[in-house]
Amino acid sequence: MEFRLSMPVVNSWNGRWSGEDRRYAVIRNLGVRDVGVIGDTRSWTYAFGDGWVARVEAREMQPGERAKKSDGFCGYDWMIDNILRWNTAACQCDFRPLKSHTYGEGEWSRCRYCGTARRTDT
Ligand SMILES: [Zn+2]
Repeated sequence: MEFRLSMPVVNSWNGRWSGEDRRYAVIRNLGVRDVGVIGDTRSWTYAFGDGWVARVEAREMQPGERAKKSDGFCGYDWMIDNILRWNTAACQCDFRPLKSHTYGEGEWSRCRYCGTARRTDT
């Protein structure tokens, strides 16, 4: 399966994404479990909350098809990880209490997937 990344909604000064001329794609060999997670879904979006929206589109490669040249995935491989985990690009955070941490006072938890930390005693 080939996953391609694009930014259909951008919030930059010129309304353009600097990577739009590039080809951001990665190829993942999906197992039975992965296929079961995503089903027939082949397109996902992720809103960053600052006006940027990313789209990931998947395409089944033909037998014997060679991978085209790619510029990687722009550091967004975690979207594919999330898609194969939950069929959505956004992390479905699973916060686990931290016994020791460096975030400051109070009790904190951290997502075991994306690493987001939050205070849990307020
Ligand atoms: Zn998370």
